[in-house]
Amino acid sequence: MEAFAYREVQANRSAIEALATEPQARFLAGGTNLVDLMKMGIERPKTLVNINSLPLQSITVLPNGVLRIGALVRNSDLAYDERIRASYPVLSEALLSGASPQLRNMATVGGNLMQRTRCPYFYDVAFACNKRNNGSGCSALEGFNRGNAILGGSDHCISTHPSDMCVALAALDAIVQVEGPKGERSIRIQDFHLLPEDHPQKETDLGPAELITAVDLPNLPFAAKSHYVKVRDRASYEFALTSAAVALDIMDGTVRAARIALGGVGTKPWRSTVAEQLLMGKPASEAQYKTAANVALQDAQPRKYNSFKVELAKRTLIRALLTVGGMV
Ligand SMILES: Cc1cc2nc3c(=O)[nH]c(=O)nc-3n(C[C@H](O)[C@H](O)[C@H](O)COP(=O)(O)OP(=O)(O)OC[C@H]3O[C@@H](n4cnc5c(N)ncnc54)[C@H](O)[C@@H]3O)c2cc1C
Repeated sequence: MEAFAYREVQANRSAIEALATEPQARFLAGGTNLVDLMKMGIERPKTLVNINSLPLQSITVLPNGVLRIGALVRNSDLAYDERIRASYPVLSEALLSGASPQLRNMATVGGNLMQRTRCPYFYDVAFACNKRNNGSGCSALEGFNRGNAILGGSDHCISTHPSDMCVALAALDAIVQVEGPKGERSIRIQDFHLLPEDHPQKETDLGPAELITAVDLPNLPFAAKSHYVKVRDRASYEFALTSAAVALDIMDGTVRAARIALGGVGTKPWRSTVAEQLLMGKPASEAQYKTAANVALQDAQPRKYNSFKVELAKRTLIRALLTVGGMV
């Protein structure tokens, strides 16, 4: 690991100013991703700005019913919050399916949004990776791409977004609140993570020195009937091969509204509005869920070693829909 300066800040403005004056600096939250990347020489910040004392630790209900989650709320605290468990179970389940209890106790909402891909070629500096070094090439395209993306890839990058939490946030239409040198702004979750296109190194819409302050969950009554299914190589402490976050509003056997997002398959948390629209007004039946799953994966572009993900993702989504629909 390279030497770096370290400072602690007590106010959002100080954190933002620290990064504005030192572009090579990084915010340090739980450190569970950033510190690993520093040890491997993938991230080389000149300064770490510890933001753990900032007033971003609470979960509050705003007057309009929006649930505001501070960026420094730990993944465990969020997962076990009674309001989340009752009104947005898909988020609680997604969080609890990730990492390990120790990691979840450290990991924060802001850090989870910003975590980097788990593509093995990104982590091995001996290989070309456009995300690490744009222009060097993508070793995954013709390499061992079993874990890589089948949706949203480009000729420059096919790495998956690894977060479980963000898949649930995509289904819930979350809003990311940020504060930066030019003031505050809100970013819809679907606009927060970027497709790799020809700029795989630019992963989010976050600008220089912008600090994530909170994530807002809009009021969505039918999210009380929601579920997260994750398929992985081992039962815990493992990233998703495929996952699905689903919420359904069913009345008299008919789907009135649906939310569907997929994980483990996309270069960003993958919301499937086409599958949602297909279900609207249709019977809440296994046959319709299968059709929706086919539509959700219709644009999949599998590579040599990950074609199994197409069928697995469909089955994962069908399982989530059947569970929310009370059919399993
Ligand atoms: C062994 C292991 C297994 C894991 N398994 C899973 C899994 O199955 N599913 C899953 O979803 N995740 C998994 N994770 C990832 C884990 O969820 C992330 O490491 C964690 O969420 C990152 O949060 P953090 O607070 O520790 O971030 P940090 O490591 O502190 O920071 C990560 C990045 O976010 C930036 N950042 C942090 N906070 C802010 C902010 N407020 N504003 C702007 N930028 C910010 C930092 O500068 C840094 O670039 C695993 C991690 C490990 C090590």
